[in-house]
Parts: sequence; C-alpha cells; structure tokens
Amino acid sequence: MGSRPDSRLVQGIGRVVGPQHVVLEPAVMAAYADDWTGRFHGDPSVVIRPGDAAEVAAVLALCCEAGLALVPQGGNTGLVGGSVPLGGEAVLSLRRLNAVTDVDALGGQLTAGAGATVADVQAAARAAGGEYGVDLGSRDSATVGGTVATNAGGLQVLRYGPTRAQLMGVEAVLGTGSTVSHLGGLMKDNTGYDLGGLLCGSEGTLGVVTAARLRLVPPSPERVVALLAFASSAAAVDAASHLRRHLPDLNSLEFFLQSGLDLVCRVTGASHPFSGSHAAYLLLEVAGQHDPLPAANSVLDSLPAVADVAVATDSPRRAQLWRYREGHTEAINTLGAPHKLDVTLPATVLAAFVDGVPAVVRAADPAATTWLFGHVGDGNVHVNVTGVAADDLTVDERVLVHVAGLGGSISSEHGIGTAKRPWVHLNRTPAELEAFRRLKAAFDPAGILNPNVLLPPA
Ligand SMILES: Cc1cc2nc3c(=O)[nH]c(=O)nc-3n(C[C@H](O)[C@H](O)[C@H](O)COP(=O)(O)OP(=O)(O)OC[C@H]3O[C@@H](n4cnc5c(N)ncnc54)[C@H](O)[C@@H]3O)c2cc1C
Repeated sequence: MGSRPDSRLVQGIGRVVGPQHVVLEPAVMAAYADDWTGRFHGDPSVVIRPGDAAEVAAVLALCCEAGLALVPQGGNTGLVGGSVPLGGEAVLSLRRLNAVTDVDALGGQLTAGAGATVADVQAAARAAGGEYGVDLGSRDSATVGGTVATNAGGLQVLRYGPTRAQLMGVEAVLGTGSTVSHLGGLMKDNTGYDLGGLLCGSEGTLGVVTAARLRLVPPSPERVVALLAFASSAAAVDAASHLRRHLPDLNSLEFFLQSGLDLVCRVTGASHPFSGSHAAYLLLEVAGQHDPLPAANSVLDSLPAVADVAVATDSPRRAQLWRYREGHTEAINTLGAPHKLDVTLPATVLAAFVDGVPAVVRAADPAATTWLFGHVGDGNVHVNVTGVAADDLTVDERVLVHVAGLGGSISSEHGIGTAKRPWVHLNRTPAELEAFRRLKAAFDPAGILNPNVLLPPA
C-alpha cells in the first residue's frame, strides 16, 4: 500500500464525498491497483470515489493544497499503464458519475457523466433514435471520462472519427480545483480556445473530466459483415485501400493474421471460419439505413486476390465473425501480460511493416512472439509481444524506433501512458514537449494530476 495520506486530509476528503467513499482497506483498494493487461501494478495510498462534479472539485482543491498526487480512473481498461497509481498515488475513481442526461433527440446530442460506460452511451443514443460513433471491445467497462482522456479510437474511426470528433463540449476540474464547463453543445461556437479538444487525449494530466456533451450520428440499422482471406498481407492491405475508396458506408475495416485466428479459436473454442489457412484476413462491416448487401456484394465481386470469403447479414452470424477479431485482445492476454505497442503507419509502408516487424522483435529477443492485428482502415496495427519480462524494454525500444523511422506514430489510439513515456520524443520535438510542460504547469501547477504518464521526466 502507498504511504497513507495525512489523517486530517483523509477526514477532509471524507467530509466531501462521505467517509464510505474514502477507501483505505487494502483488500478493497486491490480492485483499483492493477491494470487490465496485468503488466502494471499500482499501489494506492487511498481510493476516493466522488459522486458528482462539485465533489471532484472540492477533493481536487484539498489535494492541490496538500500536494497529494492522484490518478484518475474510469473503467481501468487502459492498455498503457496510465490508470493505476505506480508511485503510491491516490486513485480518484470517477465511476459514480455515471448519469446520462439532457438527451436532445432533435439535435442529436446527450450529456454523459465521466463514469458512464460507452455501452451506456450507446444504449441512450439508440433510445433517442441515433447512435454513438465510438465503439470498442471494452465498451461495457470503458467510461466516457477514460475515452475522452485517451481520445479512444476503436472500431468505427474510419467513418466517425475518434472520441475527439464526437465532443460538443467537456466539463472538467483542473489541478487547482477550478471547474471549466462548456456543455452548451452548439454546433458552431468559435469563442476562444477549444479546452475540450485539449483535455481530450491529455490522459488525466491536465484535468479530471467530469462530463462530456456528445454528438450522436444517424442510425445505421442495416448491417453486413464480411470476412475476407488473402494469401499475403500486401494483398490484404491493397484490398483495404480499394474498399475504403469504393464502399462509403464502411463502418469498420479490421485486420488479423492466421496465427492470431488460430489462437482465438483455441482460446474461445470457436471453429475456424474457412477450411484452409490463409496469411491474412480483413473483417469489414458496412452499415446504412438501406440494405447495404447489394453495394457490398458488387464491390466484393470486383476485389482481386480474395482467397475466401464469408458474408453475414443476420445478427448472430455477424457477431460470430466479429468474435474472430474482437477475441484477439483477451486471447493474447491468456499467454501472459503482453507488451502492447499500438502504432500507426503510413499506408505506403503498412504491408512491409506487418511482414517485417516480427524480425525486428526476434532480433531484440529471440524468445518473444509477435501478434499483429488492428484497425487497418486507419493504418493502425496493434503489435502485441508475449514472452518478454514486464520490465524488459528492449523490444519496445526497437519496435517504436522502427515505427518512427518509417514515419509512423508510436501511439495510435491507446495513448502514451507510462508504457511509452520514454519514447514520446520519437514523435514530438523538444519545442512541442516544452509547450506540453507549460500547459501542464498552467492547468496543474502543483503537479498532482497523473504524474507518471505522458511527459517524460524533465
Ligand atoms: C478488450 C479491450 C479492447 C480495447 N479496444 C480499444 C480500441 O479499439 N480502441 C481504443 O482506443 N482503446 C481500446 N482499448 C483501451 C481502453 O478501453 C481505452 O483506452 C479506454 O479509453 C479507457 O477507458 P477507461 O474508462 O477504462 O479508462 P481508464 O483505463 O480508467 O484510464 C485511462 C486513462 O484515462 C485517464 N482517465 C480516466 N478517467 C478519467 C477522467 N474522468 N478524467 C481524466 N482522466 C481520466 C486515466 O488516468 C488513464 O490515464 C481496449 C481495451 C480493452 C481491454
């Protein structure tokens, strides 16, 4: 357990949130200590569970004065070690702020508390006759606060953009305890700095998100899912680019390899989709207000180099095809805590990267195994490496340097967290990092917000 904070401070926080929401029992705090991957183990000094934005503001004012560092936590599904208190900080859990309010079906907007899950927002959006543009495998646990803080991407970025593109406004408490709230949801509103856009992706270092005003997208009730097999990664990447250009109603365009498919089938007990083995697979979903099957079939018929194809229109069969892709994250975790290197590559080098990166990993550690899958429609490859000790960073270093050398991003959608902090300079100049530090000092002068993530030590 991290060293217990001053008892007068604990009592003061208890007066704000209620003593039952200040957790000091090690057994209860354990549920907030370790990250989803099992690679990062935190050590909370205390877990604080405020119930509304005013309580968050009062808690932060007390912590700022006392210099008590905090790690904001939502669903704790983050994959870069950013949501757990690695240095014995307090955990500020936002899960109780889970209301979805002010649903405006006409304007296509709603306000979601930081602790509402993505699935909660999706359900409220459907009830209002729309949809929420963000979807990800962790939808039942990942929260609005966490997805805003990480600018989460997911399975529909191709069509609707990442979380930042859904934001009509954000309410957040800065490191000083002062609240910035801009939830009016006006479509056009050029009244100064876009604080919501800045807080989005700041990984809890600038402010604690307490609510977000989110846009809804029109419903797309008619869906088709197809799984396509290819003899090479290059053929799959070529096909992906053809699909992007010719299927405007494409929601998702995902990618995986035979090794990952075999693992998912082994772990989940699912049968293989095709009788033979293939080098690479694309999973695509097309969605619209009218049956997208004729358009999808005509584009699929014109695709060269498809070795096999399965098309699903009914919901159970669509879910079955999706499981081959969505099952990757959990299946890989059964092999031990992976090193997760979520990267973006320019389209021109994507196939060569997929073919070449296992050799980069093997050269760094011959015992390591590489697993590749991801959102190929966005140029996003999840490089997962198993068989490497949690604190051995050789593979991480080699892969991320390789990615940056190819003009790619070392963090596509998961953020920098603590896992990639040593390499943020590969994508950001000293001047940019200096600007980051100045922003941090302005928003969080006492340096109490998530001190272990994003910015490398000065
Ligand atoms: C099975 C699985 C599939 C996934 N798929 C995707 C995917 O497709 N795309 C994708 O982008 N990610 C994906 N993720 C990663 C993860 O779900 C996202 O990063 C998500 O945004 C984290 O939300 P959370 O509520 O769990 O945040 P947490 O894990 O609790 O926190 C993540 C970060 O946000 C900060 N934070 C949390 N809440 C707040 C708040 N209210 N205010 C300020 N800072 C806060 C934390 O301090 C931490 O730095 C996946 C994870 C899993 C386990």
